[in-house]
Amino acid sequence: MINFQNVSKRYNGYEALIDVTFKIVPQEFVSIVGRSGAGKSTVVKLLIGEEKPTSGRVTFGHYDVSKLKSGQLPQLRRHIGTVFQDFKLLPTKNVYENIAFALEVAGKPEKEIDDLVREVLDLVDLGTKSKNFINELSGGEKQRVAIARAMVNRPDVIVADEPTGNLDPFNTSSIINILTKINELGTTLILATHNKDIVDRLGRRVILLEGGKVATDEEKGRYTA
Ligand code: ADP
Repeated sequence: MINFQNVSKRYNGYEALIDVTFKIVPQEFVSIVGRSGAGKSTVVKLLIGEEKPTSGRVTFGHYDVSKLKSGQLPQLRRHIGTVFQDFKLLPTKNVYENIAFALEVAGKPEKEIDDLVREVLDLVDLGTKSKNFINELSGGEKQRVAIARAMVNRPDVIVADEPTGNLDPFNTSSIINILTKINELGTTLILATHNKDIVDRLGRRVILLEGGKVATDEEKGRYTA
């Protein structure tokens, strides 16, 4: 479903990715690991069409992401939910409104929005905090809101870029448990991280990037860099 074919990315002469090739099939849970600067975020940006490859091809289902015009990106992104280290929540809206926002902009009926938002709030176990504002939440709770927001469109894939980077070990475990549950319910999961403990505990596929190249790609891998 996701295919990186000989993808290279150069930023102002700097080679961030070099000849990267991998495929991810539906319902996989794949960790993309490597030290800071290895190219993890660049992979995420290419996948969601935020950057274009310098050479090679990125496809997602029938979308040739490397060729999409900016006007076509919203169509692609309906299939991909994103979660980032810094949450990217709207501080002037409460939990419910943060999750409902994109659905309201898309013009969905209020009742449908309400059902969808309540469902994802239950999924991340935040049903009791729907009226709270973002500054009233812990870091772990903020990330659970971001995951709920990413899930509300029922995407095929969740891409989480360093989602536990700002969290303590307890909240890190809870976020990873939620991501695992989401994957078990059928959503493809791509986790970019430099956290060895998480990746080793997951025991799923691991793509290791080193200096912009795929160093290893192993089923049930460990993070051995
Ligand atoms: P990671 O997510 O593994 O830390 P990134 O994909 O963010 O790695 O970055 C890979 C390399 O590309 C780094 O050396 C980074 O400095 C460089 N880089 C990333 N984005 C840009 C950009 N917009 N302009 C120039 N260099 C960039």
